[in-house]
Amino acid sequence: MADAVNLRQPAAGRRVLLVSTGGTITMTAAASGGIAPTLTGEDLVRAVPELAGAATVDVHSYSTKPGASLTLEDLVRIAELIDLRLADGYAGAVVVQGTDTIEETAFVLDMLVASERPVVVTGAMRGAAAPGADGPANLLAAATVAASPLAGGLGTVVVLNDEVHAARHVQKSHTSAPSAFASPGSGPVGHVIEGRLHLYARLPRLAALPRPAIGAIEGAPVALIRVALGDDGRLLGALPGLGYRGAVIEGMGAGHLPAGLAELLGTLAGAMPVVLATRVAAGPVFQGTYGFPGSEMDLIARGAIPGGYYAGGKACLLLRLLLAAGLVGEPLKAAYIARCNGMLFDAG
Ligand code: ASP
Repeated sequence: MADAVNLRQPAAGRRVLLVSTGGTITMTAAASGGIAPTLTGEDLVRAVPELAGAATVDVHSYSTKPGASLTLEDLVRIAELIDLRLADGYAGAVVVQGTDTIEETAFVLDMLVASERPVVVTGAMRGAAAPGADGPANLLAAATVAASPLAGGLGTVVVLNDEVHAARHVQKSHTSAPSAFASPGSGPVGHVIEGRLHLYARLPRLAALPRPAIGAIEGAPVALIRVALGDDGRLLGALPGLGYRGAVIEGMGAGHLPAGLAELLGTLAGAMPVVLATRVAAGPVFQGTYGFPGSEMDLIARGAIPGGYYAGGKACLLLRLLLAAGLVGEPLKAAYIARCNGMLFDAG
């Protein structure tokens, strides 16, 4: 519950590192039409003088990319930068980026950053020059959280629309609304109100994964397949020949496939680790309820790893990180499942 006694601790004067990577928050009119990333981290900070009341902000302009073009390699480099710089007396870090991939980037930073200081990922749904641009308010709220003494040990969170979401829960749930970010099934862990962090809950911290070498990431491609009604399994059947090291299958409901795909999944699971995720926004993949062909019990018996609460994108990135760390077979399966239990359910 909210640590009411701490709500009045002053945050101004604390140092925050801002890493800017691009996204709509940095976008202005492009000569070719539409908007495109142009502004640097320094530009963003200059546009929000109120930041001075929340924290002393030092800027690292990493890139000007849209969120869709960020890579796992970028995130490994950013995690390394954050761990190095946070050791130098910063209260926390803010990462500014495109909202299209925030749920994935925040998740990876939550897995890789070892520092106990908070990492706060933010962006904007409206371009920097749009009426009602939300970037300045989001940046101010993010810096407020990163500077807050309450945020120590929080891991990585996403702050937009004055809401604080845990990286492991958060999802982009709308293509245009400033309130696009949600944590389906659990809700936000806090809010920024009157310039202060109000915190309602803390997820347990997971030990940081080893930061993989860049080459090891390239060597660990993972496929993501979402299954729809009537899927005839030809993608699933083709996967073993495509050079992937692992696969995530987003099944229906609690982790189900059409019966005709069950054998294909079993063959795939014999060739590489296969995580069974769900295409449903909230709730975990089941492990022991349904027993029909193609059910979660059938697929797990055929070798699928039950994917817990993580949506396909997050599951994919976790599997890549575990493969890049050199894990295979049962230890990889155990490591994946242990990280799902970081969501706090009774593992039985
Ligand atoms: N719509 C995106 C954004 O909000 C574009 C991107 O991810 O770069 O930033």
